[in-house]
Amino acid sequence: MKNVKEEAQSLLAKDQKNIWHHISKYDEKTHPMIAKEAKGSWITDHNGKKYLDGMSGLWCVNVGYGREELAQVAYDQLKEMSYISMTQSHLPGIKLAEKLNEMLDEDYMIFYSNSGSDANEVAFKIARQYHQQNGDALRYKFISRYRAYHGGSLGALAATGQSLRKYKYEPLTSGFLHVAPPDNYRRPKGQSVEEYNIQKAEEIEEKIIWEQKETIAAVIMEPLITGGGVLIPDPIYVEKVQEICNRYGVLLIIDEVICGFGRTGRTFGHMHYDIKPDIITMAKGLTSAYLPLSVTAVRKDIYETFNSEDENSHFRHVNTFGGNPAACALALKNIEIIERDNLTNRAAVLGDRLRGELKELEAHPYVGDIRHQGFLMGIEMVEDKETKEPAHDGRVKKIISDCKDNGLIIGRNGDTVAGYNNILTLCPPLSSTDEDLDFILSVIKKVFKENAS
Ligand code: PMP
Repeated sequence: MKNVKEEAQSLLAKDQKNIWHHISKYDEKTHPMIAKEAKGSWITDHNGKKYLDGMSGLWCVNVGYGREELAQVAYDQLKEMSYISMTQSHLPGIKLAEKLNEMLDEDYMIFYSNSGSDANEVAFKIARQYHQQNGDALRYKFISRYRAYHGGSLGALAATGQSLRKYKYEPLTSGFLHVAPPDNYRRPKGQSVEEYNIQKAEEIEEKIIWEQKETIAAVIMEPLITGGGVLIPDPIYVEKVQEICNRYGVLLIIDEVICGFGRTGRTFGHMHYDIKPDIITMAKGLTSAYLPLSVTAVRKDIYETFNSEDENSHFRHVNTFGGNPAACALALKNIEIIERDNLTNRAAVLGDRLRGELKELEAHPYVGDIRHQGFLMGIEMVEDKETKEPAHDGRVKKIISDCKDNGLIIGRNGDTVAGYNNILTLCPPLSSTDEDLDFILSVIKKVFKENAS
């Protein structure tokens, strides 16, 4: 019998030989964590070392790991009926769509896919076809913001505003335009947050005008920019963008892939604002990543334009796995857990406590700004508090690896925009206990203290 260490080493050798890891540098001796089991907010690797997952995987395990009731509901559904495509229908899919509409105020049609990228691709195709069939055939362009991420497929990547995620993969799908997002920390000196946010929203209006207003199909944005650096707008920005979209007949697509399902302290991130999106995309927290599933929720009046005599007026899009019955049954149970355990409220409570107790970090020489909404936080590191020069790569990496050495996984806005990958990210499971939060706080405080010079 191999001992634990030998087994872990042999797995690592096989991993190095066979697996091309996501968004990782070429390194024959790469040392990924080889995870073995996970429960609550904690992952155990093959060496038996435990880590608190301060990123919920890739911002997705909202209800925490190892929930037997989720495994059970998927098992039961797989036994009863493992698959039927969404050209037909099934009970878990029907119930989930009904539940999502209850959460969204009953105005949307639910289209199922597999991933966040898929959900956004579907949104783009529906928006273009809607305009074509609504007598606005020239509307094909999309406006999104620099620094935001909307997915890795060629259309969703075109919408993405992170040059490093696009570099060497271009040209991408045409018709995607970008504007700067509000970055309140780096706003011009002397300008109020409100003035600045209004100005940023007006840049969308300018873009619409300069590009010829009859050519703009939709604006896509997250309620707050998450993976791009946790950039939280003033509510006036989002509300003004909605007003501008309405004024120019431009659809508003809200990407809730990370912000949905309680993460920001509301059911959906856009519910912090007085807006009503035309299309909403969801993934990640929809199933807490126990199984793949995503949704494009489309307003009923948009759906109605697909009702026509023209034989090509229907939405000619299909995907094999979208709306898998087990994934839908699991998503329903996942939402039930979020509601039953009051995890949306818990996100707000945990996030506020995290922010409150990290107040002492504001005095740290390399911390420029700390931002959070619900249980989602960004810590912007700088070389100089006065000039706000972004912290050098080595400094940011050292904090992350020291946290890992101390058993805490945190993230950063890596490979987004050259020179601006200086924002540490935290997005722990919403089910984290008070003791989990104590642990997160103790490691962060210790690591920052040790890295103050
Ligand atoms: N939108 C946002 C806001 C995301 O964060 C992500 C993934 N990080 C996506 C879309 C794409 O989701 P997926 O990786 O499931 O394709």
